[in-house]
Amino acid sequence: MDYDLLIKGGRVIDGSGLPGYQADVGVRDGKIAEIGRLTGTAARTIDAAGLVVAPGFIDHHTHLDAQLLWDPYGTAEPWHGVTTVIMGNCGLTLAPAKESDRDNIVKSFVRVEAIPRVALEVGVPWSWHTYGEYLDTLQGKVGINVGGLVGHIAVRQYVLGEESVERTATPDEVVRMQGLVREALEGGAFGMSTNRNERHMREDGKPVASRLADDDELYALCDVLAELNTGVVETVVGLTKLEHLAWYDQLARRSGRPVLWQSVQHRWAAPNMWRDQLDGIAPTFRDGYRAFGLASTVPLLRRWSMKNTQVFDEFPTWKTLMFLPEPVRKQAFAEAETRAKLRAELEGTEKASFHRRWDLVKLVQAQRPENQGLVGKSVADVAALRGQDPVDALLTLSVEEDLGTVFASANTGGDPAVVGQILQSPYVLPGVSDAGAHVQFGVEFGYSTTFLGEWVRERQIMPLEQAVHKLTFQVATIFGIEDRGLLRPGYAADFAIFDPATVAPHEAEWVQDYPADTRRLVQHADGMHYTIVNGYVVSEDGKLSGDLPGQVLRGSAYKPVAAVV
Ligand SMILES: [Zn+2]
Repeated sequence: MDYDLLIKGGRVIDGSGLPGYQADVGVRDGKIAEIGRLTGTAARTIDAAGLVVAPGFIDHHTHLDAQLLWDPYGTAEPWHGVTTVIMGNCGLTLAPAKESDRDNIVKSFVRVEAIPRVALEVGVPWSWHTYGEYLDTLQGKVGINVGGLVGHIAVRQYVLGEESVERTATPDEVVRMQGLVREALEGGAFGMSTNRNERHMREDGKPVASRLADDDELYALCDVLAELNTGVVETVVGLTKLEHLAWYDQLARRSGRPVLWQSVQHRWAAPNMWRDQLDGIAPTFRDGYRAFGLASTVPLLRRWSMKNTQVFDEFPTWKTLMFLPEPVRKQAFAEAETRAKLRAELEGTEKASFHRRWDLVKLVQAQRPENQGLVGKSVADVAALRGQDPVDALLTLSVEEDLGTVFASANTGGDPAVVGQILQSPYVLPGVSDAGAHVQFGVEFGYSTTFLGEWVRERQIMPLEQAVHKLTFQVATIFGIEDRGLLRPGYAADFAIFDPATVAPHEAEWVQDYPADTRRLVQHADGMHYTIVNGYVVSEDGKLSGDLPGQVLRGSAYKPVAAVV
């Protein structure tokens, strides 16, 4: 047999951005053996006539750190052509961790990434201390390839304990944190992530630990990346203002490493900010440094209820109430005096992420039979129907339904003309799937299928080759993932094989597959016919094979630990 797998007659779009061409691809031992007109024999042949054969997509922004421990495919990733995921974003990782750190780490994941606590308690079999040991836990147990960043929150927690959420670090503590970052990079991390989002708190209302770090601490940690010449620095703030760009610029210049920041988006509340951001970061690139803005291909539609939402956390009274026990909160929402306060805060004119547009907040799920007719209507519609003002309509309805009414709103990504321009920018890295996070509130798994379907096929903002490049080789290059992201002999046999005429994501749907029978949202896709990982077909028309060919990928500073004899 010449090949383990032969992909015949497809249009090869190789990730380089060059024009696609008709060719066959032969795979042997998990690697691409040959590309061209191939006639050899194969254990399996896939007829790819009419389909595009691309490198598997690399989803660089996930929070699958926990989910991969119970779901080896990080579903729904393979349904969208994703063959490699990066976890550990936004400062959050499950390692390094001492036993006494575990619950504090969980507190951040529960609130910031909205992963149900019970799923983490049941689903995470803690057994590691170092980052490398955590990665080792996944080896041989995953269906897709996985790499990770080490999170500043865990690093700080490890050194400062509970004081990590209370104060800045001493010089000695910074040195110990540098040691942990070095250990993580030598354990295989692809860089480091931090979190300065003023809305990101733990479950107990305390700020996530990285928010207490000053610039000197962060720069010192990034110096370790510079020293080892490896890895990216990934950051998140609440709303990227122009002064943040100076910070990204400083990080990029000082470390010489690629910086990733969130995010470049069209915002209803600040419709020209995206252009100011891209103009503001241009000098960094012009001088030869890299600070890529992340961009979503889908409006960040969030489903939320007054039981658990961060939507109003930027308004002090709203935020305080959201941290009260539900019965107390419910009572407060019913009081006229409290409502007057809540209304007054929203009527302020300070810049906020929340767009204050009740016509853009839709009711997606009602609990009581008599309210079913309201599903699909906006809060503004409900207010008009009930002769109330919108804040009263939102709170009355929520109180009536025991806070269970589910709403959906998107602060970003609403203007397609703008989003198209953002995605075209060379300073932008598309894809913020956030897979593994906000599992009951939103789905952005389909960033790749949306990119290919809506933005390339329907809106024609760029050639398909360019889009595939952005989903593959661009990411592999920035993160330093070797041997992936291109179709070339010797490269890993990771493929997304899709029909460019039909590829598109489905609507989100509920499943009950998280630990402790927890519900979450997933998303299927059309047109993604084969997702192939290291030569194995792991998803065929949405059907998962059960194979676990995924590899734990490690960054360039990785030093394998000699086996203890
Ligand atoms: Zn994130």
